[in-house]
Amino acid sequence: MTARLLDGTAVAKDIRAEIGPAVRAFTERAGRPPGLGIVLVGNNAASEIYVASKLKSAGDSGMRADLERLPATAPLAELLDAVARLNRSEAHDGILVQSPLPEAMGEDAERRVFDLIRPDKDVDGFHAVNAGRLVQNRATLVGCTPSGIIELLERSRIPIAGARAVVIGRSDIVGKPMALLLLHRNATVTICHSRTANLPAVAREADILVAAIGRAAFVTPDFVKPGATVIDVGTTRLEDRSLVERLFAPGSKRREAFERRGSLVVGDVHPAVADVAGALTPVPGGVGPLTVAMLVKNTLRAAEERLKPGTASLDPER
Ligand code: NAP
Repeated sequence: MTARLLDGTAVAKDIRAEIGPAVRAFTERAGRPPGLGIVLVGNNAASEIYVASKLKSAGDSGMRADLERLPATAPLAELLDAVARLNRSEAHDGILVQSPLPEAMGEDAERRVFDLIRPDKDVDGFHAVNAGRLVQNRATLVGCTPSGIIELLERSRIPIAGARAVVIGRSDIVGKPMALLLLHRNATVTICHSRTANLPAVAREADILVAAIGRAAFVTPDFVKPGATVIDVGTTRLEDRSLVERLFAPGSKRREAFERRGSLVVGDVHPAVADVAGALTPVPGGVGPLTVAMLVKNTLRAAEERLKPGTASLDPER
């Protein structure tokens, strides 16, 4: 392996350490800590793990962090009520509704929920107001995963300005905001998707390649310019032994982890890319911890903004 590993866990720890004093200062000024309200619907195993980690991280940073649980059978109206309560709450500066929502809630459930969250409490940055502000490069709350990746690139001293960046994936939560953040930092950005022609050749143009697809080991060495920085956003849980055996050598740490657990979370980037890339985020330990750290940072930012006079204009209920 030749690529430098970009340690998301270490950078996330630095970000959290920097947040601590600001949280204490806010608490002193406001007479209460910044507050995060999370709503979890159902019992999706991965969501349980993500939510536990978000609550712990916010709590460890000195914030108030509350979880409201709804059963998987809850009607959408009940979830909308929970969000409306958090919108009105004086104690909560940030609101997060963990996705995915149960399919039974309906196809447009996520959109309706995200549209209801007050933009100034939208710590995931999913609301149309925050997406629009990002387009105009004047956003306060930007999606945690893409903004975490920018922190990682900057703190790892990977030059963005002037770089050719290719983002594979165009979702509203990762691909599009990622591309915009890179653009605002003066990268020349190409966004790819499932209909992109000649994808490996386009990806090979990249100095910075971001893979946000959700397909295990999809990005093979032929996608990567030698020396490029590769950011692996994807997380796919593999239970198929033959695929794990094809990807990871016997005796390797990842194979051992699979033998212990019977499943393995892998990224979009094939392990052999480590021999071509200049720098690479591991899975796990790359983008995931940054996403959680940025949620805490966004909650602090939302709290500080809400304390400033004049921001109540964003509040649809006052
Ligand atoms: P998504 O909404 O499913 O979007 C996936 C994107 O990948 C789509 O734009 C899709 O293209 C594109 N795509 C799919 N197959 C492709 C192919 N064969 N060639 C080129 N592009 C292809 O997923 P998402 O929410 O953005 O998440 C992406 C991945 O990141 C998932 O694995 C998710 O679990 C992971 N994730 C991780 C974190 C973290 O903290 N580590 C956070 C968020 C997401 P079309 O638009 O053409 O369909």
